Amino acid sequence: MNYNKADFQASYGLSSQLPDSDRPEFVFSGRSNVGKSSLINKLCNRKNLARVSATPGKTATINFYTVDTAYFVDLPGYGYAKVSNADRRRWDELINSYFDADRNRMLLVQLLDSRHMPSADDLQMLEYLQYRQIPFVVALTKADKLKKSEIEPTKQRFAELCEGYGCSAVILTSSEKGTGIPELQALFEQCLQQ
Ligand code: GDP
Repeated sequence: MNYNKADFQASYGLSSQLPDSDRPEFVFSGRSNVGKSSLINKLCNRKNLARVSATPGKTATINFYTVDTAYFVDLPGYGYAKVSNADRRRWDELINSYFDADRNRMLLVQLLDSRHMPSADDLQMLEYLQYRQIPFVVALTKADKLKKSEIEPTKQRFAELCEGYGCSAVILTSSEKGTGIPELQALFEQCLQQ
């Protein structure tokens, strides 16, 4: 896959608007502010493909990017404290109908902040992925913020936890330093070759 051939396609706020499933899809999920936009940008060697914001809580949309012959599907962030019940229902509806649809999903990347234990929302998402039998890996974000001595214990701790939810790999990443980017790209290639 040529990651330099990346383009924003569109944001979809309603499941009925989603484009046809005409290419393999790599899906990104995580809490608001976990570093999802930064990781998508880094994977594609771009600064502003996905929006990076220091203030979470934008309207929930599923963002599609074309990356060469594949789609990157950026699910709306969750865990933002100030959402209304109506917004939460809309988020649920959007996510459920995305996963209900018969699409060419290859792999989901679940992002978790390497500095903290998973939040209640993160655990709920992991349960959801397990329940729906969605193949996924975990990208631990912002690894550049860890002390050297914390790296191995952190990986170990998350690997033990995530394995229980059916996660197939835990990768330490940093969008600042580029850590874990080749590993993620290699996993994507493996999926495409199967
Ligand atoms: P999103 O809401 O999940 O899309 O998160 P963003 O990509 O917008 O990032 C949220 C904040 O975390 C921003 O201030 C980013 O600069 C910061 N951030 C993202 N990735 C990294 C990283 O790898 N290292 C560090 N130190 N900060 C990061």
